[in-house]
Amino acid sequence: MTATAAKLRLLNRISLAVLLFWSGTLSCLLWWAIANEEDHALHYARLEARANFNKDMSLRNWISKRGGIYVPVSKDTPPNPYLAHMSERDIQTASGKQLTLMNATYMLRQTMNEFSALYGIRGRITSLTPLNPDNAPDGWETAVLKQFAGGVQQEVSEVAEIGGKPYLRYMQVVYAEDSCLSCHFQQQVWKKGNVRGGIGISVPLEPYLSLERHTSRLLMCSYGLLWLLGASGVLVVNRFARRQTLRQDNTEAELERLNAVLSRQARHDELTQVYNRRAFNQRLCEEWQQWQRKSTVFSVLLADIDFFKRYNDTYGHLMGDSCLRAVAEALQKIATRPGDLIARFGGEEFVMLLPGTDLSPAMAVAERARQAVEQLAIPHSSSDCAKVVTLSIGAAASVQAAAKCSCHDLIDLADKALYEAKNNGRNRIESLPSLRHD
Ligand code: GH3
Ligand code: MG
Ligand code: MG
Repeated sequence: MTATAAKLRLLNRISLAVLLFWSGTLSCLLWWAIANEEDHALHYARLEARANFNKDMSLRNWISKRGGIYVPVSKDTPPNPYLAHMSERDIQTASGKQLTLMNATYMLRQTMNEFSALYGIRGRITSLTPLNPDNAPDGWETAVLKQFAGGVQQEVSEVAEIGGKPYLRYMQVVYAEDSCLSCHFQQQVWKKGNVRGGIGISVPLEPYLSLERHTSRLLMCSYGLLWLLGASGVLVVNRFARRQTLRQDNTEAELERLNAVLSRQARHDELTQVYNRRAFNQRLCEEWQQWQRKSTVFSVLLADIDFFKRYNDTYGHLMGDSCLRAVAEALQKIATRPGDLIARFGGEEFVMLLPGTDLSPAMAVAERARQAVEQLAIPHSSSDCAKVVTLSIGAAASVQAAAKCSCHDLIDLADKALYEAKNNGRNRIESLPSLRHD
């Protein structure tokens, strides 16, 4: 793999890692933002509850400080039986109108009920020691009032269902003051500064939850869009890297193929597709070195087509080329042992390298080669030695070389043997006595 291909693969992996990181980060941020929205909804509901408590408390204080207010007696506002102990609970105006005293608790209960009917926010004034049993606390209020009495908290809130709808139940402590004692003087537990009870406010949560849902949807859309933008960018980079990697792979494959073609061309003869002289020389040197180091014998056969100039002259150069191809193919079928090598030595000459073969078996291979070409029966009307194309072969074996010889001397010996074969009438095989290096 080239450095560019490695870089592209790395870019590919990095872009996928960035996509994962981007998706993970945005999911976490979205989750955090939505969770915050829930907190905000409760926070604003609590603020509304606190505002209502403040409004109720200021009203209560106003009335308490004035020892209550007198209102006309009516069906909705009868004299308060829990104030019966007060000497001037009911009075009559000079014109005969009946008035009754409303203390803070009595009045608050009425205003809270009307406020609830008008605006949905419920209010209740309650105490662990109520004068009016209607103001007795429920389970939740009792638990909260006990916490207030213990001095642990001054305000408590909780989400609860009322009538199947979600509400924020809120309660804040109310302390006894001098002004309270005019009505509650009979109750021994009432002392200034003691926990008098609490005012509970229940705020409907539906408007806040609906706003929270709306904001959450907006957040999801914005984060989704942001994710899409980022992911598209990463995918574009990823696709680019993939495409480039593919292109690079194809280029590498093409280069490999071209290299293989070139290396084959460098070692093979273009016309006959057997090895060329360069490849032969290389193998010859290797075999020669092996022979010198380990005395592993080998032989070379130098084969030359007889009267080939005349063949060209008679049949044309193109027929001459076909003839060369046919002879090369026939020779290849003869030398089939592993390591055997056939090469075009030049022109109409071929050379066979036979590793592990001494002179005598090499002569036998040469004879088979000669017969094989003869049996091709390629007509050669202008040959003086036969009516078909024939070969003359000179053989030489490594054992014939003297100590100081080179591999080229061996080829020279085979060439001289070939010359002998030509001189002795062609279409035959010859070898010469061993070389002497003087
Ligand atoms: P001899 O029997 O003594 O070998 O005679 P010869 O005619 O075969 O030898 P010579 O060296 O006189 O001629 C060799 C001929 O081989 C000459 C040349 O035109 C021919 N030849 C060499 N290479 C090619 C080739 O690639 N294609 C063709 N068609 N002919 C070639
Ligand atoms: Mg020749
Ligand atoms: Mg020839």
